[in-house]
Amino acid sequence: MDKLILKPGREKSLKRRHPWVFSGAVAKLQGKPGPGDTVGVWSATGEFLAVAAYSPESQIVARVWDWEERAVDAAFFNERIQRAVGQRQALMGAASAMRLIHAESDGLPGIVADRYGDTAVLQLNSAGADRWRDTIADALQATDGITRVRERSDADVRQLEGLQPVTAPLRGAPASERIVIDEEGVRFGIDLEQGHKTGFYLDQRDNRQQLRALAAGRDVLDCFCYSGGFALNAMAGGASSVVAVDSSAEALALARGNAELNQLAQPEWLQGDVFEVLRKFRDSRRSFDLVVLDPPKFAPTAAHAEKAARAYKDINLLAFKLLRPGGLLMTFSCSGGVSAELFQKIIAGSALDAGAEAQVVARLGASADHPVALNFPEGDYLKGLICRVP
Ligand code: SAH
Repeated sequence: MDKLILKPGREKSLKRRHPWVFSGAVAKLQGKPGPGDTVGVWSATGEFLAVAAYSPESQIVARVWDWEERAVDAAFFNERIQRAVGQRQALMGAASAMRLIHAESDGLPGIVADRYGDTAVLQLNSAGADRWRDTIADALQATDGITRVRERSDADVRQLEGLQPVTAPLRGAPASERIVIDEEGVRFGIDLEQGHKTGFYLDQRDNRQQLRALAAGRDVLDCFCYSGGFALNAMAGGASSVVAVDSSAEALALARGNAELNQLAQPEWLQGDVFEVLRKFRDSRRSFDLVVLDPPKFAPTAAHAEKAARAYKDINLLAFKLLRPGGLLMTFSCSGGVSAELFQKIIAGSALDAGAEAQVVARLGASADHPVALNFPEGDYLKGLICRVP
């Protein structure tokens, strides 16, 4: 096996079992591994550290498959994938949609797989993951209840690995592009070809339930509504009215279709930029009892944190201004570069500037099918707060 030999002292993070090797930590490469090939990682003093996938184009030059010196082959992937899927079945019961593989946190760096009914949607985000496409697809296809595997490897992060986007059916009879899932009694059409991420924001599952439980009798504003995840749960929970905003016409078309699918009255869908819509509502003194803010990733990495902080501060400040007395703000950040602590500081700044003496009444995160390995804090990307104004 080819070897990556680290500079003196640079084995520390690996010894704490953090699964990434940064290019700056590498002293030399022995052999000629291609992108995605398996290499041994060794310390400067000749100590074996890990077997890892080589990513020559990336700043994360290797991602650890295992801490033992072992073969990385079909048996390895079968075992890891069955372990991840088995844990989901134990945690999520009979749910028809869930994340099956959550990358580094499941010991499978760069590999994401979501289940929608009998279809698994695979996203390969690193050279190592890409190298094992067929093996991974076979293992998923062999999973209980899965008859089809589709690939949606079109996330921006692939560019950092020198990989082109790939979207294609991989295994099983070609699926229709539209699948309907049932999430706790609310049905959603999933667009497997064009939908965001692998088709749906599965990580918000528990938080949508929380919103449903809070919605009765309230006037609700859902900002960044995508296919209506929060808006339709508000309707199902007996909200007095729901206004939902997204900039994407395709997302709103999906959302309208989803309201019909559930025979729910249509919320007021607004196509527009949330930053502008919130300002307009403030200027026209429109008010709500419950506001949801679930924006896209403003800070993919810590380097973008400052600019992102301003954007989070802006929308949350405006949202506080729209709340009636006793109103609730459910606010999220899915930016890896913004920690939970920083996020709470930003929200505190928004409340202060809005003149709102708000309290935190709940802290939110991703649902249990998106576990966070303790040796990989980067996996903890989704954080949310429910704040109450007096
Ligand atoms: N809450 C959703 C997921 C939101 S994803 C759910 O539970 O399913 C973020 C959404 O924000 C996307 O649908 C995207 O189209 C939208 N978006 C991004 N920037 C926006 C902006 N400035 N104004 C309005 N919508 C925006």
